[in-house]
Amino acid sequence: MGRRITSKGRFFLCPTPIGNLRDVTLRVLDTLKEVDVVAAENMRRARFLLEKYDIQKPVMSYREENRVSASKKIIELIENGSDVALVSDAGTPGISDPGYHLVLECIENGIDVVSLPGPNAVICALTSSGLPTRRFAFEGFPPRREGERRRWLQKISHEERTLVFYESPRRLERTLVEMAEMFGSRKIAVGRELTKIHEEVIRGEITEVLQKIEESPPRGEIVIVVEGAKPRSGVSMEEAVKEVKLLRSQGVSLKEAVSVVSEKNPGLSRNELYNLAIKDKD
Ligand code: SAM
Repeated sequence: MGRRITSKGRFFLCPTPIGNLRDVTLRVLDTLKEVDVVAAENMRRARFLLEKYDIQKPVMSYREENRVSASKKIIELIENGSDVALVSDAGTPGISDPGYHLVLECIENGIDVVSLPGPNAVICALTSSGLPTRRFAFEGFPPRREGERRRWLQKISHEERTLVFYESPRRLERTLVEMAEMFGSRKIAVGRELTKIHEEVIRGEITEVLQKIEESPPRGEIVIVVEGAKPRSGVSMEEAVKEVKLLRSQGVSLKEAVSVVSEKNPGLSRNELYNLAIKDKD
């Protein structure tokens, strides 16, 4: 399992399948065989995986509800020389689950944290989306309260990187309606039940995907991938107004001039440009 730096035990983050049980890596299986204790967000699922690969290991619970007391126990075990592996409900521990807090506790206590690569719903959805993967921002689950969610959508609507979210199937339609409202026309991909029998990726403009979803509401687990905002124009509003003025001095109508300048600079608001240019007519 690699070099040990201190006499303490070590802490291993072990990704587990997000659907297809064969997606567990050989190294994760080796690690689960070798550690002293497996800490699990979902003990039933962890035991199922261990049984499937014939691994007998003590399993303890580490989940949001008991994370303070459980992390004390885990740190104590590691301080006393035991190796501990953390497995989340599914996927990579630490991504949208309580794993992050335990990692922090380990670091603060001078414990080696070894992160093994493996299944993760974000990467699986992003790479099959057909949307740019060079830069992306993972936003976790959208806030559930309407006001909070709308403010949050508004805030991220200018993000130019590809956006990735988790969402429950019950809230998918509502979230997409609000996204269409605030983001305008953008490409999205909804990854559903990835790596499982009913795996599918629904791609298209937000409204097209919404239509498909209304026709047959999706069930199961979901990741939404959204095209980022168009890059903001490098031209300031002041410069754009000057350009409109120049065109007007050459005999072009106000409406036409605004149209030409805003088409050249897709990040600028056409309405704002029109309102400023109309004031600047003389
Ligand atoms: N730690 C996990 C990971 O690495 O992917 C994610 C944990 S998060 C609490 C669970 C969410 O991940 C689900 O609600 C769903 O949005 C997404 N998810 C997990 N498995 C999935 C799958 N097979 N297909 C699509 N989305 C999935």
